[in-house]
Amino acid sequence: MKHEHIVKNVCPDSIAQELGIEPGDCLLSVNGNEIEDVFDYHFYVNDEYLTILIRKPYGEEWELEIEKDYEEDLGIEFEQGLMDEYRSCRNKCMFCFIDQMPEGMRDTLYFKDDDSRLSFLQGNYITLTNMSDHDIERIIRFRLEPINISFHTTNPKLRCKMLNNRFAGEALKKADRLYEAGIRMNGQIVLCKGINDGEELTRSIGKLSCYLPYLESVSVVPVGLTKYREGLYSLEPFTKEDAKEVLDNIHRWQEQIYKERGTHFIHGGDEWYILAEEELPEEERYDGYLQLENGVGMLRLLIDEFEESISKLPGDIKKREVSVATGKLAYPYICKLAQRITEKYTGTEVHVYAIENNFFGELITVSGLITGQDLEAQLKGRPLGKKLLLPCNMFRSGEEVFLDDMTLTQLAEALQVRVDIVKSSGQDFIDAILHLE
Ligand code: SF4
Repeated sequence: MKHEHIVKNVCPDSIAQELGIEPGDCLLSVNGNEIEDVFDYHFYVNDEYLTILIRKPYGEEWELEIEKDYEEDLGIEFEQGLMDEYRSCRNKCMFCFIDQMPEGMRDTLYFKDDDSRLSFLQGNYITLTNMSDHDIERIIRFRLEPINISFHTTNPKLRCKMLNNRFAGEALKKADRLYEAGIRMNGQIVLCKGINDGEELTRSIGKLSCYLPYLESVSVVPVGLTKYREGLYSLEPFTKEDAKEVLDNIHRWQEQIYKERGTHFIHGGDEWYILAEEELPEEERYDGYLQLENGVGMLRLLIDEFEESISKLPGDIKKREVSVATGKLAYPYICKLAQRITEKYTGTEVHVYAIENNFFGELITVSGLITGQDLEAQLKGRPLGKKLLLPCNMFRSGEEVFLDDMTLTQLAEALQVRVDIVKSSGQDFIDAILHLE
């Protein structure tokens, strides 16, 4: 198959613009190599000397010679982000969140990706089940790392059951190959009660720790259960006692692995600590927050950043009134942060609201899955002050649309208040509250 890639955008002042490359042009090859997809492209354009072949929309072919710094980008954006079709997953995991979504949401939310190229580019977690030997070879050859892997268990039979894919156990051998080639990886385990917890979890952590140092971290997060599980595998939510057990197990391993390898390696998601009503680990135990994209350590980081910033501020008595909406999970922590502000800024009033997730069901307590309609229904008529602050994880990056397609403007109109999106750092939270104008 011939691979041709249409240019969508050319960055201003880039090498590509200087050479006269334009939207609509077609990239045919780099240094004589046909480009299969974004993996190939990333690898081949790194060189200092390039010869690229472009076909103009009117058919003329241009051979362009380029001298540039090593790894300097050409500034080309292609019509297909991956320069190939997105690969969907071949599993039917018993805990899949997409299978638990109500009907009628936007199409893109139902797409089940499991694409190693997205793992490298965006940090997505992949199950390895639809990766060919060719994919593995390219990752090793081009050193595309880190690769983030959803292990869930290292028991091949159990993995087949959990992923509903008879090749899922065998696919674990691909992690062996990545390890042998020294490719950096991160792992995750979605824990399901009575399935891969207890002894199975102990075994999995033990086996995964053998992939150190290349497997740099593994997170354990509880399964998310919505109210739309009809016809799906019956899964139960974790209790406080369960969470304590999971954390005991994780902490035992952390201690042992830290003694032997100088890293904590295995990390519990923030949800476990809240459910178990235990103190969040101190910063050092997160090993540099390797799993932050997965939400692991988010609260500890927020609290520490907040403390560092607020302790340096002088305080005042100026009148301010503002509101913050969050999920039930983070609510107690956000209340404490708000209280710290109001102690120092005595004229400031902060209303913090915990939004119940009626859209997906009460077991979903993270702020990232709150919809516009739940916000509207639960905040209407409540004191909101001069503006309502919402965490940025309620929105897709760069967009002001909730999961249920309600826009930020629609919510602001419905509530008759200005609505601002706040980034997840402690300093941003303070700024958003204190700088009302
Ligand atoms: S890999 Fe499993 S959890 Fe992920 S999208 Fe596919 S079925 Fe869902």
